[in-house]
Amino acid sequence: MADRFALVLHGGAGAQRGRDYSAEVAHMRGLVEAGRDRLAGGASALDVVVETIAQLEASGLYVAGRGASPNTAGRYELDASLMDGPTARGGAVAALQGFVSPVRTARAVMERTHHVLLAGEGAAMFAGEQDMESIPGEPGEWFTHAGADEDNHATGARLTHGTVGCAVLDREGRLAAGTSTGGVFDKMPGRVGDTPVIGAGTWADDAVAVSSTGSGEFFLRTATAVQVAHRLRWAGQDLLTAAAAAIGSVGALGGDGGLIAVDRDGRIAMPYNSQGMKRAALFPDGRITSAAFED
Ligand code: ASP
Repeated sequence: MADRFALVLHGGAGAQRGRDYSAEVAHMRGLVEAGRDRLAGGASALDVVVETIAQLEASGLYVAGRGASPNTAGRYELDASLMDGPTARGGAVAALQGFVSPVRTARAVMERTHHVLLAGEGAAMFAGEQDMESIPGEPGEWFTHAGADEDNHATGARLTHGTVGCAVLDREGRLAAGTSTGGVFDKMPGRVGDTPVIGAGTWADDAVAVSSTGSGEFFLRTATAVQVAHRLRWAGQDLLTAAAAAIGSVGALGGDGGLIAVDRDGRIAMPYNSQGMKRAALFPDGRITSAAFED
């Protein structure tokens, strides 16, 4: 057992300069500390990824899980995915309605079906069959609409986006990553971004684990998460170079956002080309950072 582990999480790349994210920064730090304690006790990367994302979803502070906003038809359609590096298994849900934790449902898809991605009504039917916790009461009252008053600096449209994600290296050297979102604000019914798409929103293999956040259409078009892995594997790039180049490819198309990544040696990358990205990390030496901007 290698006595080295690392964790990185994000709360979305939609952070707007001038806003106060001290609650989110403190919350993310607390989750990193909890993850550290679980990893020190031998928890698996996959368990820590799911638990951390479920807490981010439940907080209502981010545009994922309880923090989501409705689409233009007034419905709350949520997306999530996760991937387990050692087994290359993935699970995902898209446009899921009515359930508290999309990431837990994505895990059930991975572990209890022979599929990778379930969408819409079928995803909700499955979540119900699996006894996933359903949203209590009226959706309009339960969801917190985190960040709904922010503006999209890139397009000028009324906000934008927000997402949560986590990538972990555990003491056994296993990597895992996951991502969960309410999507972009004012999205069309049925719109699905990068978050539930393995290779765009999430990737994990035996070398690296990645979670993306940003204008999802651009992350879909650049296969951002797996692009980092391919740059490591096929181009021999180091993690920081690969991660920055992948975000560069998003920017080259006019998209904005960021990603978090951890490699098998515990190196961490958190590049973004948006104004800010809510993020926190535990480095292998025990150091913890948490921030929304460069500061
Ligand atoms: N990537 C997400 C989406 O397009 C949004 C975000 O990360 O902020 O649905």
